[in-house]
Parts: sequence; C-alpha cells; structure tokens
Amino acid sequence: VLVKSFEVIEKPSIHYSDIGGLEAQIQELREVVEMPLKNPELFKEIGIEPPKGVLLYGPPGTGKTMLAKAVATESNATFIQVVASEFAQKFVGEGARIVREVFELARRKAPAIVFIDEIDAIGAKRIDMGTSGEREVQRTLMQLLAEIDGFKPLDNVKIIAATNRIDILDPALLRPGRFDRLIEVPLPDLRGREEIFKIYLSKMKVDSTIDYSELAKLTEGLSGADIKNICTEAGYNAIRDGRKFVTYNDIIGAITKVKKSRFKNKISER
Ligand code: ATP
Repeated sequence: VLVKSFEVIEKPSIHYSDIGGLEAQIQELREVVEMPLKNPELFKEIGIEPPKGVLLYGPPGTGKTMLAKAVATESNATFIQVVASEFAQKFVGEGARIVREVFELARRKAPAIVFIDEIDAIGAKRIDMGTSGEREVQRTLMQLLAEIDGFKPLDNVKIIAATNRIDILDPALLRPGRFDRLIEVPLPDLRGREEIFKIYLSKMKVDSTIDYSELAKLTEGLSGADIKNICTEAGYNAIRDGRKFVTYNDIIGAITKVKKSRFKNKISER
C-alpha cells in the first residue's frame, strides 16, 4: 500500500508580502536559504558556507509553514512538505524509506526545499527504546541525519524544519552541519497583529473604516492563525445577518468568540 506521506508543490504561491510581521525572520531566511539557492557562486567566491538546515521554532499558528512556502516561491524552488508524525509508519522500515524517497525526489526536482513539519515527532530525545515503535522512529531519524550529512551546503536542496517543542529535540539534530540555524517565530506583536488584520480584511468587503490599532490591542496573545479565524468568523456573522458586507461590530464579536474558544482549549489541555 502506498500511503501519501508527503506533498510536492512545484510552484508554491505564497509570497513574503502575504505574511504579516516577521520581517527579521524573512530577512534571515533570504540570506541563508534564498540567496544560496539563487547565487551559490557568490558564496563560493567569498568562501562562506550557508547552513544546510534551518529550524523554525515557536508556538502553533505563527506562520512557520507560510515562511517556508514563501522562501520556496521566491527562490523558484520546488516545495516538498513532510509531516514528521506521518513518517513513523506502521511498517518496519517504512519511515526510513519515505525519508530516502523524499530526498531522491528533492534532488530530481532541484532547486528544492524540503519542509519537515513537527520534526519533534521523530527528533525528540528518547529515554528508553523499549517498544518496536520507538525503534522505528529512531531508524527514521537516523536516515534523516544520513541524508542531511550526505549533501553539501551549496547543493541546491535546502531543508527547513519546524517545531513547537524545541525543548525536547535530540541534540544530534542541532549539531553543526545539520539544523544549525535556529530561527524563532514568536506570536505576533502589536504591529504584527495589525498587519495580519490588514492582510485578511483588505480582501473582504467591510462597510466602515477599521481601527486596526484597536483590533491589534484587543488580540494580545493570539496567533496569526487566530486572527485569520477572526476575519473568517466576522464574515460568517455578516452572512448569518443576511448582509453582503462585514461591519466593525462583526469583527469585534468574532474577537470575543475566538478568544473564548482559545481560553477554553487552554483549560482543557491541562
Ligand atoms: P503549526 O505549528 O500549527 O503548523 P505554523 O506556524 O506552521 O503552525 P502556519 O500553518 O504557517 O503556522 O499558519 C496557519 C495559518 O495562519 C496560515 O495559513 C495563515 O493563514 C495564518 N497565519 C499565521 N501567521 C501568519 C502571519 N504572520 N501572517 C499572515 N497569516 C498568518
């Protein structure tokens, strides 16, 4: 049985301009991923080696996947996405086989960016190796490390990984020559939240002027994904009301609702 365990996007369509805030993170990714993919000669000439792997870390819904896709778009690279929890399969050797396949494909479709989401699912420090499932995960990780070690900093394949749990990662992953460039992707600050609202609300029909700075103030602690949800929810408020446009009140109502559901989730996680 062939399980679909990775996704290939030949031409991703997310651009840096679709991302609110995160300017420093974009700048860093341009230097360590985009420029080496586009101008490897420049790096050779100056005599520096860019990192082979970059690790994006931070809370859920803050734009890590978006960042990886945007770098692929702007580098004219094929985007290959793997969710690491799907690596660890039911069959012995399956995870390692998928890892090999992904990198084979990446070399074939180069320039390419391999994006490994939830890398902690195969890259967590393990205390015991009792069950066969744990050994299988370990084999998958070993294969991934072997693949990373097998290419050079200026080859036209780059790996970007993402995690919400950098604290539990196996140090073997973070060693020089592997994921040795860490980029934090935090919750958006006031200005970031304002920008994210602008990105989504500008695509919607809103009746009145919007006080973006007020919206940003009301959404402290929320992620970009939450803000997108708020905008969608505001649209639903309008539809329920039989209107063809969104009002400022729809947005405020949506903020209350999304905050409430976030708060409930926080309690039930304990
Ligand atoms: P996870 O850790 O849950 O996989 P992530 O950090 O990879 O999350 P994304 O999948 O990139 O987050 O973001 C989820 C959705 O939230 C995106 O599709 C996008 O719509 C929205 N979003 C998150 N952050 C931003 C941002 N900074 N600017 C614009 N949209 C954002």
